[in-house]
Amino acid sequence: MRTVYVNGEYMPENEASVSIFDRGFLMADGVYEVTSVLGGKLIDFEGHAVRLQRSLDALDMRSPIDREDLLEVHRELVRRNGIDEGMIYLQVTRGSAGDRDFVFPDPETTAPTVVLFTQAKPGLAHSPAAKKGMKVISIEDIRWGRRDIKTVQLLYPSMGKMMAKKAGADDAWMIEDGYVTEGTSNNAYIVKDGKIITRELSNDILHGITRAAVLRFAEEAQMQVEERNFTIEEAQAAEEAFITSASTFVMPVVEIDGVALGDGTPGPVATRLREIYLEESLKAAV
Ligand code: PMP
Repeated sequence: MRTVYVNGEYMPENEASVSIFDRGFLMADGVYEVTSVLGGKLIDFEGHAVRLQRSLDALDMRSPIDREDLLEVHRELVRRNGIDEGMIYLQVTRGSAGDRDFVFPDPETTAPTVVLFTQAKPGLAHSPAAKKGMKVISIEDIRWGRRDIKTVQLLYPSMGKMMAKKAGADDAWMIEDGYVTEGTSNNAYIVKDGKIITRELSNDILHGITRAAVLRFAEEAQMQVEERNFTIEEAQAAEEAFITSASTFVMPVVEIDGVALGDGTPGPVATRLREIYLEESLKAAV
């Protein structure tokens, strides 16, 4: 049984609970982060901690825990649960004011709820899916306008994954005004004339921590990067495509809406970026 963390305490998962009045439960009034663990160490903890603060600030939510303590809780959960490869999920909500009300509760009297738990994923770094590549479908992006805030409003992304599954694919890329925004839980890229193309940062997409690292490593490796919009048609005609996220790192995409990219196998740019990302982030893991 897992040991989890709830509001300052470690406990067995079956003893952990939050109020039925918690605003995360009633209103999706909460934010989250997922940090991966490789070799028992945290990948890009600093990036996730900074983005957590940004999400909290955007929603006018108080930080329930400082950076140092947060790192310690992450490490303690890795230790207590013997995680070698996997993820740590962190969620902060505006807490429970003991009733349901649209108005935010007074932060002086209502403390945020903080929950962390681990997910063991042995073999995460050497996932067979990375060798095979994934298939995506395109769906309309009907999410709200602040996708840069990492909120727990994940119903539409969850529906998107179900649409993909039904279509025999692995995930969905979302389209707004004719252009790809991002994947349901990842950032989207194509490769054209050897150049890596991905949508620029704005409120339309989540500012992926893996995205930032991968673009940095790509530039260090003298690969060309262009931040701009692209359509599904351009993606289908691209040499390669891939996604990035904390839990999949860099994952090649080999088919879009039934159209195979190139020869239908993972391309050299995505494969190389995955290797570089794993190598470099392991070096910097804490
Ligand atoms: N976009 C969305 C919509 C996501 O949910 C995620 C992962 N949570 C990402 C992008 C990738 O972000 P990161 O690299 O920080 O995991």
